[in-house]
Amino acid sequence: MSFVAMLGALISVLAGAIATAPQVVAPDFAWPLDAMDNRPKLLTFGLYVTPNPDNNPIDPPERWTGYHSALDIEIYPDEIDKDVPVYAVCNGPVIFTGEVNGYGGVIIQSCEYESEPITVLYGHINPYRIEKKVDDILAVGDRFGVLGGHKNRESGYNRKHLHMQMHRGSNIVFQGYVSSPQELSAYIDPQKVINSK
Ligand SMILES: [Zn+2]
Repeated sequence: MSFVAMLGALISVLAGAIATAPQVVAPDFAWPLDAMDNRPKLLTFGLYVTPNPDNNPIDPPERWTGYHSALDIEIYPDEIDKDVPVYAVCNGPVIFTGEVNGYGGVIIQSCEYESEPITVLYGHINPYRIEKKVDDILAVGDRFGVLGGHKNRESGYNRKHLHMQMHRGSNIVFQGYVSSPQELSAYIDPQKVINSK
């Protein structure tokens, strides 16, 4: 084999190696509920609320005071007595399922955002109908349960809605309101993450 032929063979081997190298897949995010176009998102990330109706977009207000460290996504009026399926917003394993005071059912997923680990907490999920378990790998759009009922134990006696919270790191953090804007920096605004997909 001539030098030129050897060089040609080497180049084609290298080209093949480059072509078959694993592709870096960009993180993929999607909304957790169906029919998002007109779904109210009143209690947004970082909003300061109290139980006083003057300081709260929810009518009637829930009982919490503080800066909301999540995004609340509301139901449509005709969903109050219907199953509202909830889907994974990102790719990653389930790291917690259970019933937590104030939330009713909770499922937490571990994902990556901008090459850093984050946790995604879904609150007010029906705890008796969680369809996945810890260590199950969820892909974007995988259904894992339905919202808990309106103001009953399933939702922690809150209105029927989804509390979706993204926290930096891998630790399980339940806190859904914080007492200072500085503490919000440990969390990420889900609207920014999902809208940037
Ligand atoms: Zn909330």
